[in-house]
Amino acid sequence: MKTVEIICRNCGADTLLQREAIYDGFTKSGERLLCSACGFEYESEDAVPFKKKKADPVIFTEADRSAAVDVFDEAESRNLCRYCANYLINPFTQFCSIHKKEVQATDTCPQFKTATPKDESDCPI
Ligand SMILES: [Zn+2]
Repeated sequence: MKTVEIICRNCGADTLLQREAIYDGFTKSGERLLCSACGFEYESEDAVPFKKKKADPVIFTEADRSAAVDVFDEAESRNLCRYCANYLINPFTQFCSIHKKEVQATDTCPQFKTATPKDESDCPI
């Protein structure tokens, strides 16, 4: 779409260009270019003080996108505290019963012991 915003040379307003068709009988013979604020008429398109548009914001290019996140490697996830028999979790903390300290589910540990299904049967059902 064509820019119609102008800074009027006559009244200084930050306004819009008004285009008025000029008819010669039924034939459109031209256009009048007017300031919609004060009505000042510009003699031609070249004389219209079109408002310069700000440069478009830089849009992320394909290259800026981060590569797809790698899926966890099986071997790497095997020693995670969350799968360890000594990993205790409650609504307030995650705790390692070997090291007696708070841990994260994603921590790993050399003393990892795979939790057995029995350990997960705290559920009353
Ligand atoms: Zn004006």
